[in-house]
Amino acid sequence: MKRMIRLGVSLRTRLTLWYGALLAVTLLTFSALVYFTLQQNLSSSMDERLTLRADQLRREVGPSIGNLLQPEDVAPQVQLQSTLSDFVGTGVYVQLLNQKAAVIATPPNLVGEDLPVPGSSRQAMNEDRPIFDTVPIAGGNGSVRLLTEPLHLNGTDEVVGAVQVAESLSPIENTMSAVARLLASAGAAALLLAMLVGWLLTRAALSPVFRITDTARHIAATGDYRQRLQVPPPRFGHGDELFFLASTFNDMIASLEHMLESQRRLLADTSHELRNPITIIRGNLALLRRQSVPEASRNEAVAEAEEEAARMGRLVGDLLLLARADAGDMPNFQRERVDLGELVSEVVEQARPQAGTRKLNVDCDPRCIVRGDRDRLKQLVANLVENAIRYTPAGGKVEVSVRGGPGPHGLKQGGAAVRSRNARDAGTSTPMAQLTITDSGIGISPTDLPHVFERFYRAEKARSRAHGGSGLGLSIAEYIAQAHGGTIQATSEGTNRGSTFTIRLPLASRADPARPVTAPVAPLAVGR
Ligand code: ADP
Repeated sequence: MKRMIRLGVSLRTRLTLWYGALLAVTLLTFSALVYFTLQQNLSSSMDERLTLRADQLRREVGPSIGNLLQPEDVAPQVQLQSTLSDFVGTGVYVQLLNQKAAVIATPPNLVGEDLPVPGSSRQAMNEDRPIFDTVPIAGGNGSVRLLTEPLHLNGTDEVVGAVQVAESLSPIENTMSAVARLLASAGAAALLLAMLVGWLLTRAALSPVFRITDTARHIAATGDYRQRLQVPPPRFGHGDELFFLASTFNDMIASLEHMLESQRRLLADTSHELRNPITIIRGNLALLRRQSVPEASRNEAVAEAEEEAARMGRLVGDLLLLARADAGDMPNFQRERVDLGELVSEVVEQARPQAGTRKLNVDCDPRCIVRGDRDRLKQLVANLVENAIRYTPAGGKVEVSVRGGPGPHGLKQGGAAVRSRNARDAGTSTPMAQLTITDSGIGISPTDLPHVFERFYRAEKARSRAHGGSGLGLSIAEYIAQAHGGTIQATSEGTNRGSTFTIRLPLASRADPARPVTAPVAPLAVGR
């Protein structure tokens, strides 16, 4: 059974059981209410009948009541007895008591038997008030409802006896047990039917869940993340819980698919990037093995192998840094006070030999202080300055400036790629330092611009590789900027129209504590 939930009871069974239990409680309450109300009504209408009959009997025997005081006189007794015959019926009994609660006229329809005279009858006479009681009667006739009403001497308050009127409880008991049977059987049938219908309805309602489970299981088994769950169509213009569950699940599978695809591409790109230098090193080693190779060529081969090994080392270092950033394993960046202008000037001076015939201008505001890790910030600036030189043809121009002042400066321009995932980015009122690197180089096309911060993304692969670029420089620059609570942005008017990279970093305030930067950065985008 594919759809069975192995552990515990299935949701469908649980829903049906809950539903059944609720219905059972409702039916029970309802049945009890019906039962007791009916019983109450039957009892009170019996009491009304008894009262009526007792009153009639009292009126009938009232005039001859004096005879009760002379029990030795037989004729009136006989007459009384015949009067009582008019008040009996099936299951209805009457009886008269004298002052001493002795029976002086027995029920004509209870052959040779009296109605019992319970304590309540004596109490009725003593307290001069009617009292109801339920008592068993002789002869296996079950129980009766018994009313004792005191009899008064004509026109006085003197209690000289009592009338007892009783009615058999058997009809009520029979009715009540029939009603109980009916309620029990009808209730049980209704409960069973409702649970069966509920069971079928739950299956229909849960069928999308079964489908979702099947698809999810299939995806897990095959690893085919291109599959999507069937989303139940929204009803009455609104999606239900299952609609949202399936949609959310699909979004999750899509992001998993994207992540796996990115990982796959990263792996492929990394292997490709490492294969090149390895091939060159192996070729050069093979060359060095040969005896006949001239000294100059040998030196050249060794230098090339060293260069490729250094490049591999850089690549592995960069990958390691990004992998740690992805894992949220942040290196403890220092938060020392760094003069950004000074640091930029230093980087530019170091890069000047590479610039060759390109004009390299620096314009920095003095005392533009940020808090951060000097080495990492230097790496960030160096990556961007090297890129600007790399992608600017000889004779071109690279301008680097540092401005410090209250931010934000409305950085969004046409064709801009802004990278910021940190809470403390543009849009907050934190004063920002702005570092701009502008070149007159090959520029970035609008199609490439949104991707330049992705790992191994190269607008022009051959040219980038020829210049020794790994395709990770901007990813690392972005990571460092974000880890410092800043943003990085690339703009370009298009191919051959130069590029501008703008980094914005929070300016240090005097109150800013010198603690290491540990704020986590969201994983960086990978791929092309
Ligand atoms: P690379 O090591 O290839 O330079 P980066 O991550 O530093 O890798 O840059 C990614 C891509 O962005 C580069 O391959 C290049 O296409 C483009 N790029 C970066 N900086 C510039 C620039 N100043 N001018 C033009 N294109 C640039």
